[in-house]
Amino acid sequence: MRIREMVKSFKPYRVLEGNYRIWLDKNENPFDLPPEIKEEIMEELRKTPFNRYPHITADPLREKIAEFLGFEKENVIVGNGSDELISLILKLFEGKHIIVSSPSFRMYDFFAKLEGTDLVDVPLDEHFNLQNVEDYAENAKAIFICSPNNPTGNIQKREKIISVLESGVPVILDEAYIEFAKKSNVDLVNEYDNLIVLRTFSKAFGLAGIRVGYAVASEEVIDYLHRIKAPFGLNSLSMKTAELMLDHYDLVKQNINYIIKERERIYKEFRGYAYPSEANFLLLRLDAYEFLLEKGIVVRKLSGRLDGHIRVTIGKKEENDELIGALNEFIERF
Ligand SMILES: *Cc1c(COP(=O)(O)O)cnc(C)c1O
Repeated sequence: MRIREMVKSFKPYRVLEGNYRIWLDKNENPFDLPPEIKEEIMEELRKTPFNRYPHITADPLREKIAEFLGFEKENVIVGNGSDELISLILKLFEGKHIIVSSPSFRMYDFFAKLEGTDLVDVPLDEHFNLQNVEDYAENAKAIFICSPNNPTGNIQKREKIISVLESGVPVILDEAYIEFAKKSNVDLVNEYDNLIVLRTFSKAFGLAGIRVGYAVASEEVIDYLHRIKAPFGLNSLSMKTAELMLDHYDLVKQNINYIIKERERIYKEFRGYAYPSEANFLLLRLDAYEFLLEKGIVVRKLSGRLDGHIRVTIGKKEENDELIGALNEFIERF
């Protein structure tokens, strides 16, 4: 058998092996949960019957998220990371192509290719603002807007988002980093039933390892999404952990404030090279990937239009100090 000719061909994941000290490459939260909250979670897990399936649509967590945001449970769906929900959304809607605006999150392209959906790229302008994506809305399956955008860090204007929503096509507004920004647009779900807002516990909530994401949309869209979603998709352990984290939002908020303060400190330091950001990372016009790697600091190397740029996640103060030192050395040397 020639397996290679019988499968959809994708590149394998590349895992960076090595003894690096500082990981600023995945936009993770630098803070793990404090031991007392981990204890509290363990206590909850001890009480959880492992022999039983979790709630079929994870309703206890949906209720908590809805209450947190001021929506109803019927407006919320949870997934195994928001990545799972991107794939689910692409399966739900008819249409030939999706619209993305590069440079942006590459998982939209990945899932589109997997689903055999065409990709129309309407690149962001020179300030990384959305262009005329509405012009390509006819017969589109969905339009993706990432705000704050990964990897550029900027947000899109509310008026622009509204004008895209007016096209009537399903609009996926990815707010994975919204907790680090000034304002969310999730309230637009009350006005536009073609809006799906994606959120995650992986970034501000510091739970990348437990894999929980969610989407907020009209009751009707959420109902249709549930009909095509595998039952019992979210495991009891992750569900409980995410629920408990919502009870400790004060701690989450404290970490968000710390990260924003550190972000602004690094931004000021590299003003001539950095782009303003409302996320937990900065885009820098510095070709310093290899230089930093040699110093044990891992960041994200960018390519294509952002060739010669790096994306650095905001870490703990000590980590950021090392990053700043290394980058200053890089700037002096090159
Ligand atoms: C990190 C990230 C997500 C979240 O992914 P999870 O699967 O929830 O961990 C979604 N969108 C963007 C743009 C991201 O950067």
